[in-house]
Amino acid sequence: MAELKETRHPLSVEHLEPRKILRLMVIFPVLGGTAISGFGVHRLLTGYYGLAAFDFIVGVAFYALGFYTWRTGRETAARYISAVISAIGPLVFLDMFDRAGIYWVYSSTIVIFYLVPPLWAIFLNAVMLLGVAVVYRHADYSQVQLYSFLVTIGLINIFSLLFALDEARRKSQLRELSVKDELTGIGNRRAFVERIGEVISIHRRYGLDASLVCLDIDRFKEVNDTLGHASGDAAIRSLAEHITGSIRESDHVYRIGGDEFVIIAEGADREAALELTEKVRRGVEECDLIPEMKITISLGVAVLEDDDTADSWMAHADAALYEAKDAGRNTIRMHPAVA
Ligand code: GH3
Ligand code: MG
Repeated sequence: MAELKETRHPLSVEHLEPRKILRLMVIFPVLGGTAISGFGVHRLLTGYYGLAAFDFIVGVAFYALGFYTWRTGRETAARYISAVISAIGPLVFLDMFDRAGIYWVYSSTIVIFYLVPPLWAIFLNAVMLLGVAVVYRHADYSQVQLYSFLVTIGLINIFSLLFALDEARRKSQLRELSVKDELTGIGNRRAFVERIGEVISIHRRYGLDASLVCLDIDRFKEVNDTLGHASGDAAIRSLAEHITGSIRESDHVYRIGGDEFVIIAEGADREAALELTEKVRRGVEECDLIPEMKITISLGVAVLEDDDTADSWMAHADAALYEAKDAGRNTIRMHPAVA
């Protein structure tokens, strides 16, 4: 049995994505702070002390945001704050650079779509454009220039939105694929590793009982050898359906290996876990998972203990399963053996 990690699986997309975003959410404010401080230096040298002070304050605020994100690892707040700053920034620049400031609206639009979910991005961009209309109401743009601005900013918004929606859809598809077992459609090993960590956290915080059931088909090699791999696959699929149909909503089943499944029964103490386990065992024994051959399973149960880690909990359930196999199969063993 490979080691389990209590943290999220290292290959999980959930895990990878925030790391990348976290790095960006440190780099983005630091670059922003440096750029704005650069303007501050320019103001200072040209004698605009008030504006220079404003630039330095905004620059320091950016650095503080980057530092906060780096220290706490909380990138969500940084994303929203950066998006709001990105929306307000062009209004300040508009004021400073006269008509040339309008170019900042384009980059801000894209940055905002990158930082926050599509609906928020639409809202913030609408606010920014409203601000532009107010701040620029006296600027002497020609009608052609205004029309060009509206068309180009409209196009940037539409295509940024399409990209953002596409990205969100792809991310959720990837997420689903990464946690689903292809053969049975139930959760895979990665989904299990994520959930077991969460269940242990809940137990530590709220003391909620939980039990882990490891189960494995008895002499499955014989099924493959006698009937062929396709029948073996059918048996695995049928077993997944059977377990899913026998457990409660608060129980979750995962296929973590060839013919090996686990059930996490949240809220289940020793008695409830034994009842569930016996129900599954008997159900498999009594139903015909595949018509050609009688199939049975062995099960090992471990109740979550206070000092358990994901690895130790899994090791206890696994050891109980091996005891059940040693005891002749089609049976249940419990860890600890006596209450
Ligand atoms: P035991 O009672 O000790 O569990 O005996 P067993 O024959 O079931 O032994 P084991 O659990 O070690 O064997 C698992 C077999 O499952 C080995 C492998 O050929 C087969 N297997 C693994 N993945 C798949 C799969 O996706 N489809 C099929 N058909 N067979 C698989
Ligand atoms: Mg087996």
